[in-house]
Amino acid sequence: MSQPSLAAFEERLSASKVEIEALTQETLNLYRQVNLLYRIGESMNACLSPEEVGQLVLRESCKILRATSGRIELDDGVTLGVRPGVVESELQVPIENAHGHLGSVTIFNKRNGFFTAADEKLIRAIARQAGIALENNRLIHGLIAKNRELEQLNEELKAVDQMKSDFVSNVSHELRTPLASIKGFAATILADDEMPQEIQREFVGIINDESDKLCVIINDILDISKMMSGYMKFDMRPVALEAAVYDVVKLLTMLAERKGLTLKFDLVDSATVVMDSSRIAQVLKNLVGNAIKFTDTGGVRLVQWLDGDFACLAVEDTGAGIPEDHVPFIFEKFYRVENVVHTKEGTGLGLALVRTIVDHHHGSIEVRSRLGEGSTFTVRLPLAPPPGGAEVPHAETHSDR
Ligand code: ADP
Repeated sequence: MSQPSLAAFEERLSASKVEIEALTQETLNLYRQVNLLYRIGESMNACLSPEEVGQLVLRESCKILRATSGRIELDDGVTLGVRPGVVESELQVPIENAHGHLGSVTIFNKRNGFFTAADEKLIRAIARQAGIALENNRLIHGLIAKNRELEQLNEELKAVDQMKSDFVSNVSHELRTPLASIKGFAATILADDEMPQEIQREFVGIINDESDKLCVIINDILDISKMMSGYMKFDMRPVALEAAVYDVVKLLTMLAERKGLTLKFDLVDSATVVMDSSRIAQVLKNLVGNAIKFTDTGGVRLVQWLDGDFACLAVEDTGAGIPEDHVPFIFEKFYRVENVVHTKEGTGLGLALVRTIVDHHHGSIEVRSRLGEGSTFTVRLPLAPPPGGAEVPHAETHSDR
C-alpha cells in the first residue's frame, strides 16, 4: 500500500482549512443575523412609533445585507428612506400582519454582488417583525387613547357626582329652612288660643311667603326633570315682550325695596316676540331674582331695545359680580359659585332653566360680569314676523333636551 505523500496531505489540510474557515464565517454570519433579528424584535416590542420602527428596519436591513440604502412605504402614507439615483439591484418584500398588508420595504444595491434567496428570507423575517411591531404600536396607542378618554370621563363623572351631592345637600337645606319656619309659626299659632289677630295675621303671612319659596324650589326641580326628559311644554304666541317685563318688575319691586335696592325698567323699543309668556316670565324672574339676591347696594336695571331682527333685554345689577373662571359654567345644572353657596339661598338650577327656555325660543343669552362691580345678563329673542308676513301659528311645542 503506497503512503500518501506529505505534499498531498498538506494540500488536503489546507483545503480543509479553507472549508473550515468558510464554515466558521457562515456560522458567524448566521449567528450575527439571528442576533440582529432578535435585537430588532426586542426593540420593536418597546412600543416604538411607526417612524422609529421604519428607521430601525432600514438601518439594520442595510447593515445585515451590506446594502447602500433602503426605503419603506406604509399604506397609511408614511414613507421613509430614499430610492438611490442608480439602482443596480433591489430587493422588495411586503410588510404584513394578521390583518393584512401594511406596506413594503425595499433594499437597494448590495455591495459586492446581488441579493440572494437567503437575503430575501432574512428581509422577510425582518418585515414580519416590523408588521408585529406596527400592530403593537397601533394597539398600545389605541389603549393609551382609550385610557385617557376613560380617565377624562371618570373626572367628569366625579364632578357631576360632586355637583349632585352638593345639589342634594343644597336642596335639602333650601326645603328644610322654609318648612321649619312654616312648622314653627303654624305650631305657635295652634298653641296660643289667645294670640292677638294682627300677630296671627303676621305669622300666617310668613307661612304664606315661606310656602311660596317652597313652591318655587319644587317647581324648579320639576322643570329640570321635565327639561332632562325633553318634556317641557311651550305655548308659543306672538306677544309684546315689554308686557312680560312690566309684570315681573311689578312682582319683584317689593323684594328689591326690602333690600333697599332700586328696580327700574327702561323701555327703549317695544318688541313683539313669538313666545311662551309664562316661560319667558320664568326667565325674567330668575334673572331679576338673582340680580337682587347677589346685590347689596345700588340696584337692578332692565333695558329693552331692538337690534336688527332681535329683541334684546338686559338685566344689569351693581352686585357681587361673578369670578371670571366661573362664568363659563354658571348655566350648567346644579352649578353654584362656591364662595357664595353657603351664604345665599339657591339650587343652581335657575340659569340652566333660563338657558333651556331661551334656546327653545331660538334666542341666546350672554353674561358680562366684573367681580365686585356687578353683572349684566343679556337675552336676545327673534322678533315675530311683521303683520302680513309669514303667519305665526299658535303652536304647542316641546323642548329638545
Ligand atoms: P342659584 O341662584 O340657585 O344658585 P342659578 O343657576 O340661578 O342658581 O345661578 C348659578 C350661579 O351663578 C349662582 O349660584 C351665582 O353664583 C351665579 N350668579 C347668577 N346670577 C348672578 C348675579 N346676578 N350676580 C352674581 N352671581 C350670579
